[in-house]
This record gives sequence, C-alpha cells and structure tokens, in this order.
Amino acid sequence: MGLGQYIRDFSSMFFPNICQACGKLLNVKEDCFCTTCVHHFPYTNFHLQPDNTLAKQFWGRVNVSSASAFLYFNKGSKVQNIVHQLKYNKQPQVGVAIGKLYAQELKQFPDYQNLDGIIPVPIHPHKIKKRGYNQSEQFALGLAQVLNTPVCTDILYRTEERESQATKNRIGRFENMQKVFNAVPANYALENVLLVDDTITTGATLEACIMALQNIGIKNIHVLGIAFTQ
Ligand SMILES: [Zn+2]
Repeated sequence: MGLGQYIRDFSSMFFPNICQACGKLLNVKEDCFCTTCVHHFPYTNFHLQPDNTLAKQFWGRVNVSSASAFLYFNKGSKVQNIVHQLKYNKQPQVGVAIGKLYAQELKQFPDYQNLDGIIPVPIHPHKIKKRGYNQSEQFALGLAQVLNTPVCTDILYRTEERESQATKNRIGRFENMQKVFNAVPANYALENVLLVDDTITTGATLEACIMALQNIGIKNIHVLGIAFTQ
C-alpha cells in the first residue's frame, strides 16, 4: 500500500466527509466524492452501446439482456481508491453512493425501468464476517433507491469456498466457478433482474451466477458492475 493510500485510509477513519477517490474535504452538498472527481471519472458509457466490450465477453457463453459497468478500472487510479475504500477500508457508503450516481444515469433507459429485483453477487460468509457487509449489496442498495426496485438477497447464494483461482487456467476457472453458485426459486414474480457485481474482470463469476439464475427460470438478466478491468 502506498503512502497516499495509507493517509487516505487513516483520514477516512476520523474524517468520513472526505472524497473517497482523492481524499479532498467534501462540502455539505457532496456525497462520498467531490464534484471534480465525479466530473473526471473514467465513465465507460457501456449502457449506450449494447455491443460493448463487457457484453461481448458473454457472447457465445451465456445469454444476457444487457451488460454494463460504470467506470474503467486501472491500477493506481482514483477508481482503484474507490474500490479499495469499499472493499478493504470499511466504507460501505461508497458502494451506495456509486449505485445512486449510476442509477441517476440509467433510470432514463427502458432496460432499467421495469425490473423485478436487483441481485447482488454473493460473497463468502467469512468475507462478510471480516468486511461487515457485501460490497455488491451496498452498490445494489444505492441503485435500488433511485430505480425503485427491491434488492433480493434470498435467491442467489454461494455453495462452497472456491479453490484458489491463481493456479487455474481460464477453462479451469470457469469450471471451478460454476460449482460455487446456486439459486432458489423466488416465491414472488422475478423475471426481469439486474445482477450486480463490484469489479468485473474475466466475467467468470457473473457467468456462473447467470447460469444459476437461468436454472430457476429467470429470463431476462441485465448485468451491471461498478468497474470493468480491460
Ligand atoms: Zn475527489
């Protein structure tokens, strides 16, 4: 961890009203991020482009209604700071704030207007215990506030601890992930859902989740991430 990151982590413990991307003090109207950062975030605008790079990752593998991510993720960037604050520095409100920001943009598009529910990718219970929350669920909560859609945490769950991904090749990773997620049918109408994750890299996690959701008959699955690693 660099010195800058260390100072930001230390400051945010005592001064929660600093920008979670750059560390600057926030004014009363700003929520989690300063106006300058929000203005300069590396937006993907994937929601305007149905055949975007992320959506293409699913082509020929699983059927998704749409796939989009809010920001591009690059090492050493402000987006990395945000993800760090959300995942490793006990700042769940960062996920909520990102969800609200993104939904303000998405709410004008039909894909996001008739959803039955928002389903966060579940994390392992020992991570919940350590972190105190599921970061994807925080993102979902922010989206839910603006899109006026419930967050469903009773559908998709993790079945077992996955083995280390590091030693596996791409095929091995996909096979490994598919054993990890399972879904139980909802006792309410759930046909059109938004599946949300924090950072999307290979899409292996999402692919496994999508298959589990399709197994219980969910037809339209829209995928959304906070950040996308190119
Ligand atoms: Zn800032």
